[in-house]
Amino acid sequence: MNIRFQCIIILLLTLVDGEICGQEMLVGFAKKNITPNPPIWLSGYASRTTPATGVVHNLWAKAVYLESSPKEKALIISTDLLGLSREVSQGIVQQLHETYGISQKQVIINSSHTHSGPMIWPALSGIANYSLEDQKAVSTYTLGLIKTIVDLAGESISNKDKMRLSVGHGQVDFAINRRQLAASKLGQVLAGPIDHDVPVIKVEDLKGNVKGILMGYACHNTTVQGDNYLVNGDYAGFAQIDLEKRFPTATAMFLLGCAGDQNPEPRGNILLAEKHGKKLAETVSELIQQKLKPLSNALQYDAQQITLDFKKIEISQFQQEIVGNDVFKQRRAKLMLEAFNKGWNMQHYLYPIQALRIGKEFTIIALAGEVVVDYSLRIKKEFAQHDIFVAGYSQEVMCYIPSKNVLKEGGYEAESSMIYYGWPGPFEDSVEEKIMQGVHLVMKNIGIRPKK
Ligand SMILES: [Zn+2]
Repeated sequence: MNIRFQCIIILLLTLVDGEICGQEMLVGFAKKNITPNPPIWLSGYASRTTPATGVVHNLWAKAVYLESSPKEKALIISTDLLGLSREVSQGIVQQLHETYGISQKQVIINSSHTHSGPMIWPALSGIANYSLEDQKAVSTYTLGLIKTIVDLAGESISNKDKMRLSVGHGQVDFAINRRQLAASKLGQVLAGPIDHDVPVIKVEDLKGNVKGILMGYACHNTTVQGDNYLVNGDYAGFAQIDLEKRFPTATAMFLLGCAGDQNPEPRGNILLAEKHGKKLAETVSELIQQKLKPLSNALQYDAQQITLDFKKIEISQFQQEIVGNDVFKQRRAKLMLEAFNKGWNMQHYLYPIQALRIGKEFTIIALAGEVVVDYSLRIKKEFAQHDIFVAGYSQEVMCYIPSKNVLKEGGYEAESSMIYYGWPGPFEDSVEEKIMQGVHLVMKNIGIRPKK
């Protein structure tokens, strides 16, 4: 080979290398064990009558810190928990700001919604009939959790190093539309949408070691049911454990999608949770071993709050319910009458919506609450030119977020779940359009336009 030709090849390699350098980002991972010590009440099923009696495997809070420039930084935190209350989520965000100068817009905190994790005060505390002693255990755990997650974030920042990110998608099919299943048992037909997408972000160091895996899926972590009293992370917990065995240098994180009306099938015991987890891990593992779409070195983020309205409250309804026979309606009525007597406005909810664009190529929309799958499908359709994952269960989990269609159909996710969550009643029909307007606003603010 003549000298001139060799020089051209070296120049080309340098250019290619230069382009790869443009894809490097500072990334740090950290994980902390957040397994509670039984006895503590587990959250998610109103049928439980005692605190937890043991542990199947540990629960984890995990963080990935991303920094594309000294000014552009973001944190994604995953937790093997049912969901955070606003008090806990805002407590974490406030301390992250005070300690590390990271603002609310830069932090996404997602919960896997395992129904075999500890109760987080005061979210859903109305489902348990627990003693003062039990309540103290939950409060102590909750306070410790805030500190643990703030420390976790600090560790992920300290661990930052040059990494390359890439993204791909797989599919697993154990999620079913549980509303459709419930209706079919009654001889009714409901729409029954599903979303089997499994987005995967691979994070590698410059030597090609897999340092982190972020995966998403839209399916309730409810393979085990209310007869289970053992702490575990359900299928998402098993999937993370499996992946960290397959890729020992990696931290595997799970982000729950719009799973409000999605259940695993079959379900009923811990072996099935392990089976679903393995299926998810296998799909993710196959992707990790492939070359995925590189993400460039850039971060954009935005967060907005919108006002959602509940249907008009008739206080006489709660005056009747408080003397009725239904203990859950009694507890909700007590909350509502207290709020009414204090002059609090229970007609509205300030609802957080976030977007995090990683590189130019991939965006996570993070919505609060138990968001039904219609939102994921609609957002991906309206922004069809862009690669998107819609996470539900982000920041706080205060109730279900039904779509217009789910509200029209009625049932648990539209109405009766509000009793357990302690809210006055169903949302107004405007809920979906208001959330979509908020999504369009955060997308516009990070430079993403809808499909024409
Ligand atoms: Zn749920």
